[in-house]
Amino acid sequence: MIIAIDGPAASGKGTLACRIARHFGLAWLDTGLLYRAVARDVRAAGHSLEDALAAAAAARALDPATLDDPALRGPGAGDAASIVARIAEVRAALLEFQRAFAHRPSGAVLDGRDIGTVVCPDADVKIFVTATPEVRAQRRYQERKNRGESVTYEAVLEDIRRRDERDAGREAAPMQQARDAVLLDTSDLDIEAAFDTAVGVISRKVGQRGHP
Ligand code: C5P
Repeated sequence: MIIAIDGPAASGKGTLACRIARHFGLAWLDTGLLYRAVARDVRAAGHSLEDALAAAAAARALDPATLDDPALRGPGAGDAASIVARIAEVRAALLEFQRAFAHRPSGAVLDGRDIGTVVCPDADVKIFVTATPEVRAQRRYQERKNRGESVTYEAVLEDIRRRDERDAGREAAPMQQARDAVLLDTSDLDIEAAFDTAVGVISRKVGQRGHP
């Protein structure tokens, strides 16, 4: 059983994917971490994020054991990731790892931007999670403030808009809702309501088994 969860930055897809995986006893891969790690490694090797050759080499050499690096969740990491994520060779280098993860016999939940469209077009359930840029910015702003970062709402909103544009506007595997994905707009939902809705969608899709 493969569950694909896509959506823009700060839509709540990561939290949802984690909780869905736990609920149904599936493995979870936050694919954004792969792109964040590639950006980290490109910089650590002294290259520019725009350097396609260096970025592709970093993607091919990526060690999945380094994905728990807290720096990948730090400020700027998502923006840097979206720069290397535009490079087709980077995406190609990360594809096999994601597909192997998805096709493990015990099943998996993957969240990202192109899971339902490119990585797992054959996923059993696809959910596209979204919310207005303002709501997403407010959530991310609150999160970062709670962590003690000095940040303004306006700067977070600007970051979200820039990232949306980059992710949806790129040529290689742009962020988009798969034709057969269920749209889940969390603008007016808290995490509990969003989770209940997603579990309902999944349970309906997998039919009477009620468990993937
Ligand atoms: O999901 P997260 O915000 O961690 O992703 C960081 C960046 O990685 C995204 O803005 C996007 O550019 C890229 N990404 C992607 N495809 C995925 C997951 C993430 O292009 N499947």
